[in-house]
Amino acid sequence: MNILERIDSLGRRVPEKVAHVSGPSTLTYGTLLYRSNALAAQIAGMLPDDGSPVVVLGHKECEMLVAFLSVIKSGHPYAPVDAFLPPQRVARIRDTSGSQLTLTPEYVSRLPDIQAAPPRRQAKPSDPYYIMFTSGSTGDPKGVVITFGCLEDFLVWMLAEQRMAEGQEVFLNQAPFSFDLSIMDLYLSLLTGGTLFSVTSQDIANPRQLYQKLAAAQLTIWVSTPSFARLCLAERRFNAEMLPRLRLFLFCGETLPPEVAAVLLDRFPAAEVWNTYGPTEATVAMTSVRIDRQMIEHYPSLPIGFPKPRTLALVMDEAGWPVAPGERGEIVIAGPNVSPGYLGRPDLTARSFFKLDGQQAYRTGDWGRYRDGLLFFEGRKDSQIKLHGYRIEIGDIEANLRALPGVRDATVVPEGKDGSYDSLTAYLIMADRPSGSDFEVSCTIREQLAERLPAYMLPRKFCFRQSFPMTTNGKVDRRSLVDST
Ligand code: AMP
Repeated sequence: MNILERIDSLGRRVPEKVAHVSGPSTLTYGTLLYRSNALAAQIAGMLPDDGSPVVVLGHKECEMLVAFLSVIKSGHPYAPVDAFLPPQRVARIRDTSGSQLTLTPEYVSRLPDIQAAPPRRQAKPSDPYYIMFTSGSTGDPKGVVITFGCLEDFLVWMLAEQRMAEGQEVFLNQAPFSFDLSIMDLYLSLLTGGTLFSVTSQDIANPRQLYQKLAAAQLTIWVSTPSFARLCLAERRFNAEMLPRLRLFLFCGETLPPEVAAVLLDRFPAAEVWNTYGPTEATVAMTSVRIDRQMIEHYPSLPIGFPKPRTLALVMDEAGWPVAPGERGEIVIAGPNVSPGYLGRPDLTARSFFKLDGQQAYRTGDWGRYRDGLLFFEGRKDSQIKLHGYRIEIGDIEANLRALPGVRDATVVPEGKDGSYDSLTAYLIMADRPSGSDFEVSCTIREQLAERLPAYMLPRKFCFRQSFPMTTNGKVDRRSLVDST
């Protein structure tokens, strides 16, 4: 499959067909084709042919799609960055990526309306297609390199597994383009001549507007985190009457609670619910399973499914040997969908990636177990968490807190129950305690942290301590810390 050729051919065959709807704007396949060609020609004239990434900074604007395709056509990978990130974090991503150019929707919208031929360049499967930045435990985001080969392998699988009607589908785009879940809706939609329907951060902040838009969208395929579906289910009218064409829910990114799946099956009797699993490092998702009522009754926690063809999902012990069926171990993924590693970080790459029988393999850090031939997710080995669907390294927040003036040490603890978290608490030891109440000092620290981290990574509560309790092996004793609150 050649991704770009397929999308471009739609621009010639059905130029008037709407490819993307976002807020009041729409983008047709024809416009996507000629504007991405024109911008690609411009980028190729501006940048050396060195394959360096181009940062695309924006939210859900239609111009984002033009920018993504133009960067690829110009022979560079793109690094999507959401505009909700604070400027300091964006600057760190830009530095880490070595990007010499940042495209924004404003820049793309000012492009003169010209027809231009894109640069002629044949990409190899090993060429990077996009770089997705995720939270890194040392306080700096790390860039996962996804190649043409990885992306094609993922898309070929999804297109074969999920029947999609050419030119008929309307896909929900909930995840920002800076999260790899959005790759699922964006490219499945573009490859099948569908329409991508984005909900923006303003829509999500305004539930009435959100439901009105969802009702008008004629969605057929829902792609989101389970957290977002749970949010929508709070509205009783969120059902098949509101979304009569909806026939498929595709979930990924975090645990799908059985009660969420059960209510969806009740409210959308004609729709299928699928759970898919995978880390960004293995290109969006690599296991899947259709969740039906029997499964919900049978398993207290839902399975994440069966591995896709051509990919191994092994459950391994500490020594790197597969465990016996039914036993718990670390999920290790090997196959053509596995990333070559982290951009410019051979140290981090060597820690998590290796070769397994000649295939690229990745240690996920996820606990897993096979039962009845199905893979189950059983939590994390480390301190990476999912909070409202966002992937966060606790160490990332701690490192950024320690970098603030006056903070000597910081420990962050996720709060929640049953392995699902809903907020973060930061425990701080201050070197110089600024004057003011705990509340006033918390507000100042929160503001300073917000200059470095996105809102979803900010602790809700701050607690001040003289020292942290330690375990016998010299680590902060998080349990005693929480108990002492
Ligand atoms: P991300 O790279 O943001 O996609 O996050 C990947 C991590 O999210 C995985 O390593 C898992 O810890 C978690 N995850 C992804 N999909 C699922 C799922 N279906 N069920 C439970 N956890 C999941």
